[in-house]
Amino acid sequence: MTRTVTIVGAGPAGLTAARILRDAGLDDVLVLERNPECGGLPRFCGHPGWGVLDFHRLWDGPTYARRLVAAAHGVEMRTNHSVIDLQPGGTLVVNAPDGTRTIESRAVLITTGIREMSRAARLVSGSRPWGVLTTGAFQEMVYRGDMKPFRRPVVIGTELVSFSALLTARHAGIVPAAMIEPGSRITARRPGDWIARFLFGVPVLTSTALVRIEGQDRVTGVVVSRNGREETIACDGVIFSGMFTPETGMLRTTHIAIDPRTGGPSIDTDWRSSDPAFFAAGNVLRPVEHSGKAAEEGRLAAQAILRALDGRLSTAPGVGVQAGEGLRYVYPQRLTPGAEPVRLFARVSQRCRGRIRVTSGGSVFLDEKIDLLPERRLTLDLPAASRRASEDLRVDIIR
Ligand SMILES: Cc1cc2nc3c(=O)[nH]c(=O)nc-3n(C[C@H](O)[C@H](O)[C@H](O)COP(=O)(O)OP(=O)(O)OC[C@H]3O[C@@H](n4cnc5c(N)ncnc54)[C@H](O)[C@@H]3O)c2cc1C
Repeated sequence: MTRTVTIVGAGPAGLTAARILRDAGLDDVLVLERNPECGGLPRFCGHPGWGVLDFHRLWDGPTYARRLVAAAHGVEMRTNHSVIDLQPGGTLVVNAPDGTRTIESRAVLITTGIREMSRAARLVSGSRPWGVLTTGAFQEMVYRGDMKPFRRPVVIGTELVSFSALLTARHAGIVPAAMIEPGSRITARRPGDWIARFLFGVPVLTSTALVRIEGQDRVTGVVVSRNGREETIACDGVIFSGMFTPETGMLRTTHIAIDPRTGGPSIDTDWRSSDPAFFAAGNVLRPVEHSGKAAEEGRLAAQAILRALDGRLSTAPGVGVQAGEGLRYVYPQRLTPGAEPVRLFARVSQRCRGRIRVTSGGSVFLDEKIDLLPERRLTLDLPAASRRASEDLRVDIIR
């Protein structure tokens, strides 16, 4: 039996897509989730900050996850089902509690989110004591296990997710010894350092890089390089925040094209991957964004799937989108002819003041002043003329 749509991953993007497909009258949508519960990453984040963009309510993560699942009721959801491989044309290989099987579908939506880089992948030297965690593992211990893994950790990183670590620490009665950042300012928006210092009582050390972790059984300190000098900060734990990468384990050895810049599948403006039976949305497209953005992408991808099932998506190859120097990534990576609207999303690699320009051949489609930090999502709305571009689009930063 061929399914109509299968969604891989039951986080905000996948569950929002499931709801939209059900609302459009599809009664044969299947959601596969590798965890024992649906809801995705918010299930582990007990602090508030969820639901504002999509439900216009302010919830904590577990409440948001439950609301997403409830809003998609009627859709078949199978937990403990892990997709391990995929084959051309919409076939999935799935590890289920009762064995391995294949599922064929007319369309597949991949919404597998992100994973955090391990310490090994970050190439941090020093000993290997207990007490070194990623933000995700820390949150799971605190909110799900009711544990207090340390009392005075150091937080490595200052992007938005680091503040999630501070909120979790406060919930558990933990006061971090410091937050450290190799750059000259924090990565998150400016009041962030003020909030860390005055609301959480945590010193924020910029221009400070982690050199090594010390301790035998437990962490006893971290050695940092600050203004050219090494110093030790006494602590009993380390929380690595940030450094996320799209969860593409099941795609790595398949025919689906991966963009080395985003680390996720390359898509076109209709959210289709290099195999038009597979669509993708949410954080799997690029490292972490706000859940409301992931949910919105799930909604748009579901609408594109509905058009595809009706034969209303263009099959013309379209033109590519190239990210120039200074840009960490740009997606979608391909423009479907006639797609509307033509909207690109980008991030810069480091603080950037200048202009951003989108061109194709001799045509300039956009030329705007920018003053951006790596943490800011940049949305580029291109004019209708860009839909008829016959050469690849280039997105360049002009300093
Ligand atoms: C520490 C932290 C704090 C955050 N705080 C906030 C916040 O306060 N507010 C906010 O709006 N956003 C926050 N975010 C961002 C938010 O978590 C994401 O934007 C959102 O969860 C992305 O949704 P998603 O559906 O793309 O992926 P996810 O929520 O990651 O869901 C992906 C799902 O796919 C499943 N999956 C993966 N691989 C497979 C497979 N092979 N087979 C089957 N299932 C699979 C996973 O188990 C998971 O359930 C935070 C992120 C982090 C890391």
